[in-house]
Amino acid sequence: AKEFKRSGFLHYRPEHSRRAHTRLALEVQLRRAIERQQLIVYYQPQYDLVTEQVASVEALVRWHHPQRGLIPPGEFVPIAEESDLIIEIGSWVLREACRQAMAWHKAGYPLLRISINVSARQLLRPEFVSEVAAILHSSGLPANWLELEITEGVMLDDPIYAARQIDQLRQLGIRIALDDFGTGYSSLAYLRQLRLDALKIDQAFVRAIDEQSNMVTNSRALLRAIINLAHSLGLAVIAEGVETPEQRSALISMGCDILQGYLFAHPLPADEVWPTILRLQNG
Ligand code: C2E
Ligand code: CA
Ligand code: CA
Ligand code: CA
Repeated sequence: AKEFKRSGFLHYRPEHSRRAHTRLALEVQLRRAIERQQLIVYYQPQYDLVTEQVASVEALVRWHHPQRGLIPPGEFVPIAEESDLIIEIGSWVLREACRQAMAWHKAGYPLLRISINVSARQLLRPEFVSEVAAILHSSGLPANWLELEITEGVMLDDPIYAARQIDQLRQLGIRIALDDFGTGYSSLAYLRQLRLDALKIDQAFVRAIDEQSNMVTNSRALLRAIINLAHSLGLAVIAEGVETPEQRSALISMGCDILQGYLFAHPLPADEVWPTILRLQNG
């Protein structure tokens, strides 16, 4: 590491210890965040190109920190993932999002499918399948209205066990989507090993659609090939990070099924979700 000077001694770097301290403080505060009800779930609408309606939302957690305001998941989920904290946070998000989905429905809105991010550490716990079943049961959400988003990370430790957990979840009727597709090294291998329902194409591919570079032709050809491949495997294709009308029309022409991104809506607090969907669909 950089802090080893040529002498071989580890030089004291105050900024490192400050960073370590902040991180530790963050972890301690994060542990209390759930009981203090500082975590909030935002929901980002996903636009279904077949029905031309918002048919689903992705649940994205935020931390309402008393001093620092709204903290994005990128700043605390990776820390939580290093310990069992992610299991507590993940269970809470699952319960809260399923409860919210049914609350909207009980308020008279059509049911929306709810997509929830699941970390490897969560999925690989033996209790996970029965926990999800219990949450579905107590919330009353039918299993096929729940989609779990997993990443390639679930295949790193124990791919056989991961595949088994996924099969069991699918037997309950839950849908499984592979998130961030195309960013890892072995995306294709995972398509062979896992039985899935949907692929989420990473926003890096979507962004490349209207960039000014020689890579654009490559990116478009790749994108088209990924969509065709997914379809031939019977998977739905969701594109995330759709920000421009050009990206939207390119993705439509390539046969993408579902679009998600700022062009349609940002992640929203629960009370803004239906007003936004109705505005999207009526105007
Ligand atoms: P992700 O699952 O890939 O989620 C998509 C991210 O892209 C979200 O960031 C979303 O707000 C952002 N996004 C959506 N549309 C656009 C767009 O048009 N342009 C751009 N530039 N970005 C867009 P967010 O909410 O900050 O979440 C970041 C990551 O944190 C997520 O990436 C996911 O990996 C993780 N995460 C969020 N909530 C949870 C959770 O409940 N559990 C776990 N395990 N991870 C979570
Ligand atoms: Ca996701
Ligand atoms: Ca993603
Ligand atoms: Ca991601």
